[in-house]
Amino acid sequence: MIPGEIDSNRSVWIEETEQTPPEPPLSSRAVAEIAVVGGGLTGVSTAWHLSQRLSGRGIILLEAGVLGNGASGRSGGQVLHWINGVTTEDPDELRRIHAATHLGIDLAETLAARYAPPGTFRRHGALEVYTDAARAEAAHARVERLSRAGIPVRFLGADALRFEGGHGAILDPEAGRLNGFALLQGMRAALVEQGVVVHEHTPVLRVREGETMVLTTPGGEVHARAVVLATNAYTPALGYFRHEILPLHSHVIATAPLPDETWDRLGWHAWDGFTDDLDRIAYASRTTAGRLLFGGGGNPAYSYRYGGAPVFPEQPRHPAWMFLRRTMLRYFPALADAPVATRWSGTLGITLDRVCTMGVRGAHRNVYFALGYSGHGVALALLAGRVIADLHEGNHEAWRELPFYQRKLLPLPPEPLRWIGYQAYTRLTGRSPRRHA
Ligand SMILES: Cc1cc2nc3c(=O)[nH]c(=O)nc-3n(C[C@H](O)[C@H](O)[C@H](O)COP(=O)(O)OP(=O)(O)OC[C@H]3O[C@@H](n4cnc5c(N)ncnc54)[C@H](O)[C@@H]3O)c2cc1C
Repeated sequence: MIPGEIDSNRSVWIEETEQTPPEPPLSSRAVAEIAVVGGGLTGVSTAWHLSQRLSGRGIILLEAGVLGNGASGRSGGQVLHWINGVTTEDPDELRRIHAATHLGIDLAETLAARYAPPGTFRRHGALEVYTDAARAEAAHARVERLSRAGIPVRFLGADALRFEGGHGAILDPEAGRLNGFALLQGMRAALVEQGVVVHEHTPVLRVREGETMVLTTPGGEVHARAVVLATNAYTPALGYFRHEILPLHSHVIATAPLPDETWDRLGWHAWDGFTDDLDRIAYASRTTAGRLLFGGGGNPAYSYRYGGAPVFPEQPRHPAWMFLRRTMLRYFPALADAPVATRWSGTLGITLDRVCTMGVRGAHRNVYFALGYSGHGVALALLAGRVIADLHEGNHEAWRELPFYQRKLLPLPPEPLRWIGYQAYTRLTGRSPRRHA
């Protein structure tokens, strides 16, 4: 894996964003208090939170491509509560996780309202649709348990849904939808104004640890007292979390903008997002311009590259594209005449138990990290900025009881066992239901 190697973002979010010029690459030696590597939602939120606390002094952000070129600018856009991989029935823990991820959704709302064009963020709720009668019944019981814990979710019966194969759904009315690329493009100017030094097209090739961290880039070194790894699926290429993070490519399609009557025929109402209840999750959302975005839904919609390469070369004839269209039509037959207008791939950072980790490590306790969101990272990546800024101030208390705090990730097997294990696991569990928080 080559550190900083990143393919370009070809997602639908780019088509819906007026791009602004990037900040120049680093071209000389620089000194900073803290260097953030990666300009996705984790890195930009971290730089933004730090700049509020340090008045922008000594913060440098280095991004291999442009802000939002990674998963944050290519995602399904759903801004959701909960942490992937955490299953709990404990009402206190449910409330804690809900409150923390709620903060992440609130951050999306606040930052988009301040820095991004109208329509970048919407908050009309998201549906989790159950594709089996028994699981729908269990979901109904779960809604009652969550309601008793004070969490505002609703159960919708099959008659309230028009999705093919939907036996019921949980509606989370406080979830939303974000054009992450537009938010990050909009935040560039805010960071610079707050004193953050931003360098785009600046891949970090090497990190040398010490009391002073030394980052090597093609244009010069950065010497900093602390580093933030905000590189999610790309982190193993920098030599960190090589045995714990699996870069997985998720393929996505989007239609052209759909007229309102098509949305009505879909039975979509005002909702922002749709997921199903399967482990190889199908997800869909409504973009600002009224396109339907669709990803996942089965093994062909995801790819793992031997050795964990974090980029996926463009492949116009890849079987994922036909599979995605077929799966989209299974849920939304009213789209039979809607051609697929955009196709792209983005890289998820998967952990063995799907739970992410945030914390600080290294002999000098100066390497901060937040990664491994396993496909459920928009709200958590925004939250990570606040968590890391708190940890940098020495304030750990607010986060100690959350499952991601200093979480030790389980090791993945080395190649070729990793590749063989991925093939075997995905074949055995291709249609398995998902576990829930
Ligand atoms: C197709 C897809 C759909 C998704 N859908 C959803 C969804 O609907 N809801 C949800 O909650 N989550 C979703 N996710 C997950 C979510 O997008 C991610 O978890 C989240 O955006 C991760 O943000 P990040 O900033 O940590 O990583 P990224 O956005 O990947 O940012 C990392 C950045 O680091 C840069 N970088 C990498 N290496 C280097 C280096 N050596 N030097 C400098 N810069 C470097 C990259 O260029 C990149 O910009 C989806 C992900 C994908 C790929």
